[in-house]
Amino acid sequence: MTTDIKETTEKAPLNFIEEIIEKDIAEGKHDGRVHTRFPPEPNGYLHIGHAKSICLNFGLAQKYGGKCNLRFDDTNPVTEDTEYVDSILGDVRWLGFEPDNIFYASDYFDKLYEFAVDLIKKGKAYVDDSTPDEIAAMKGTPTRPGTDSPYRNRSVEENLDLFTKMKNGEFKEGSRVLRAKIDMASPNMIMRDPVLYRIKFAHHHRTGDKWCIYPLYDMAHGQSDSIEKITHSICTLEFMPHRELYDWCIDNLEIFPSKQYEFARLNLNYTVMSKRKLKQLVEEKYVSGWDDPRMPTISGMRRRGYTAAAIRNFATRVGIAKRENVIDLSLLEFCVREDLNKIATRSMAVLDPLKVVITNYPEGQTEWLETENNPEDPESGTRKLPFGRELWIEQDDFMENPPKKFFRLSPGQLGRLKSAYIIQVDEVVKDASGEVTELHCTYFPESKSGEDTSGLKPKATLHWVSAEHAVAGEVRLYDRLLMVENAADDPRDFKELLNPDSLVVVKNAWLEPSLADVTPNDHFQFIRLGYFTPDADTKPEKPVFNRTVTLRDAWAKIAKKG
Ligand code: ATP
Ligand code: MG
Repeated sequence: MTTDIKETTEKAPLNFIEEIIEKDIAEGKHDGRVHTRFPPEPNGYLHIGHAKSICLNFGLAQKYGGKCNLRFDDTNPVTEDTEYVDSILGDVRWLGFEPDNIFYASDYFDKLYEFAVDLIKKGKAYVDDSTPDEIAAMKGTPTRPGTDSPYRNRSVEENLDLFTKMKNGEFKEGSRVLRAKIDMASPNMIMRDPVLYRIKFAHHHRTGDKWCIYPLYDMAHGQSDSIEKITHSICTLEFMPHRELYDWCIDNLEIFPSKQYEFARLNLNYTVMSKRKLKQLVEEKYVSGWDDPRMPTISGMRRRGYTAAAIRNFATRVGIAKRENVIDLSLLEFCVREDLNKIATRSMAVLDPLKVVITNYPEGQTEWLETENNPEDPESGTRKLPFGRELWIEQDDFMENPPKKFFRLSPGQLGRLKSAYIIQVDEVVKDASGEVTELHCTYFPESKSGEDTSGLKPKATLHWVSAEHAVAGEVRLYDRLLMVENAADDPRDFKELLNPDSLVVVKNAWLEPSLADVTPNDHFQFIRLGYFTPDADTKPEKPVFNRTVTLRDAWAKIAKKG
């Protein structure tokens, strides 16, 4: 049937996780239920890699009518903080997702303790008095089996007694651990009697001083999935070796059979993407904070003017892979431009001003010219721009002695002022040092945009602002944070690879008056200069704008030239 053909050809191909889910649904597994989770550790702000994971987990729940939990994986008391908890929830919501449940792994500490006791009772876990060094030495190597700890065959009673004492704070930090009793000769090193619990006298951001033993990742993550009856626990490839232990714990505890699936993490070129490194940039003040617009954090990208829709779209375009790869930053920028092109208000700003005086324009006169807010969006309407005798244009839109293919202004050459008139340069005014300070021009009254009867054909359209009405503002221009494409392959410390020109501040830009009254989250295209958004530093007397992205990919051009 033709309808069938149409449907099958229009459907995007399934990714491998969707294939697994659709098979599970078809087989009636978990009554066809799909329940995912996003499990960040609250030890930093989320980055674009996490955004990828959020879009994947929440997206699958949406697609299959399921649920997605946000679970703070807060089992390590030393590195975690409520500041991070708050930022993570804010970032998830900003991306456009509302968790079905918000949980904390620390809420399960009692349950996890019971699980540990259950393993001890089943003869599957033991307390080991060896030092960390001794445990490491007994671990063996990938080619040589490990050796059994002398404490491996303690009785269940003795283990229960010692574990209770660990919990009660009777032992020193580092003096004992609880280990799973699995197989010291397993080819998977993680299965060689992994440590499940350790003693840590640390204050936890939620449970305070209630606990002095904390579960390790493998004793918390899969168990938390199981407690929440997660059907598809999706994580990044580095957890692949943990899958065997994930299953072992669930099987031996006889609890809900959550399953783990791994996909390749998102890597972006010219970008560092590890919370540890990003934290270093913040703490050592290489950037102004986690939300510095150069940071690959969700909060940095938001401040810079990236939209949630663009990031979601990027995540979809990247897709999911089973093997590590590096995505080109320009794909993300492409997605940002694509969205901003649809929503950004076109406006005018001059970053490097040169004064133009229109000598045949009446002194003191102001004309309010109509201009479109966004030609891509007919609903966006129009606004009025003031035009007068004195204007600002960009320095580099004028050359006194231009090369052949320079089509902007030069003596005698015509130029159109966007949404206004055609002008011509009559006289170049210079200061004592020979620096051009002003252009004296004439305008053609019959060349008004929209009703031009002049018959003149200038080759360039320039942006401008009226000097009398312009508002002074600060504009911040950003470039990639790293100078090298792949910092991971570079022997130098990543901080030596930072781009010294990643931030350029234009202290005194001239903005059209409508840009005086803006709020963060507004999006503008400054004509010919790029997409911009007001920064949080904006004050009523001085707007501050971030350049979100240029109009075209400047790096692609540089790369081509070589
Ligand atoms: P980082 O390695 O950057 O410090 P992390 O893996 O320690 O991050 P978590 O808070 O543990 O950060 O991650 C929460 C979830 O986000 C995990 O499921 C993890 O697999 C996923 N995640 C982290 N980084 C990426 C990435 N670059 N691409 C895709 N998913 C990621
Ligand atoms: Mg982690």
